[in-house]
Amino acid sequence: MHDFDYIKAKSIDQASTALLDQPTNSSILAGGTDLVDQMRRGVKTPDLIVDIKSIPELQRVALKENALILGGGVPVSRIYNQQGILSEFPGLETSLRLIGSIQIQNRATIAGNIGNASPSADLVPILVALESKATIATGNSKREIEIEKLITEPGIIATEPGELIENINIPLPKGKSTNSYLRFTPRAEMDIAVVSLGVSIELEPDATIVHCKIALGAVTPKPIRALDAEQYMLGKRLNIETVKEAAFLINQSAAPISDIRASAQYRLELLPVIGERAIRSCAINLGISL
Ligand SMILES: Cc1cc2nc3c(=O)[nH]c(=O)nc-3n(C[C@H](O)[C@H](O)[C@H](O)COP(=O)(O)OP(=O)(O)OC[C@H]3O[C@@H](n4cnc5c(N)ncnc54)[C@H](O)[C@@H]3O)c2cc1C
Repeated sequence: MHDFDYIKAKSIDQASTALLDQPTNSSILAGGTDLVDQMRRGVKTPDLIVDIKSIPELQRVALKENALILGGGVPVSRIYNQQGILSEFPGLETSLRLIGSIQIQNRATIAGNIGNASPSADLVPILVALESKATIATGNSKREIEIEKLITEPGIIATEPGELIENINIPLPKGKSTNSYLRFTPRAEMDIAVVSLGVSIELEPDATIVHCKIALGAVTPKPIRALDAEQYMLGKRLNIETVKEAAFLINQSAAPISDIRASAQYRLELLPVIGERAIRSCAINLGISL
């Protein structure tokens, strides 16, 4: 493996300063489950690694009045093991528990899943469907950006040198709401999504859909919402006709590629099936039988 310097940052300021000192070839290290593998394979050859796991602000997990705050350096197993923290977020819990294996979940972070910016990242579609934002920090500044806008292309996020993801801010669902995440993988475990989809939905008491976000994974280079399907669902009752038509419309937003794991055509066949199941799962969460 390529030689590199290593800094274990104790504060955002220290991490940011170190990253700025070497802006062209430094890398943030969280759990390392993507980065270390990429370094071993020579895909990434940073001269400086800045380890952010010991920065206290990045280890925060808090359920506030309006939002769930998840620190950028928190391993995903610490999130789902915290009692009650995900009760409003069944879709997020599903996605966290799908990452790799227990061993991987004890290392992998949400910020790393976003920072790696893989089109098949499991946490991204549900975070987008939940309208989550990332707090991007340096030693002396903070800004917020929607996850949907943060990932710009495969492997690239819209951060400047010296910036890091401090935390993810997920608004608490309102009223009669729920969410779900579903992926298709050829193997049941330790595989990468061929297609995936996150849904977040809010209903009136009579089951009219008042809020709906559907985000797609592994069928576009960067996170994208299924806007045609969302538009169609708004104002409709959540019934079987609505679900089937929305699932059909999801493909209008997809632009899959063919690769070693699936052809584009196969992905287009799968996506409406996964979409229908994910929306049905929301209906089940809300006690609606379709
Ligand atoms: C065996 C195995 C199975 C896997 N299975 C899955 C799976 O099922 N689903 C899935 O989605 N992924 C999977 N992965 C990929 C990986 O585990 C996840 O993407 C994980 O969330 C990465 O988090 P990390 O903390 O390990 O990131 P790291 O490897 O530490 O970092 C990943 C990238 O994010 C950047 N980064 C990290 N933290 C920050 C921050 N705070 N601010 C800005 N940038 C940051 C890093 O610089 C790097 O570019 C798997 C990996 C392995 C090895």
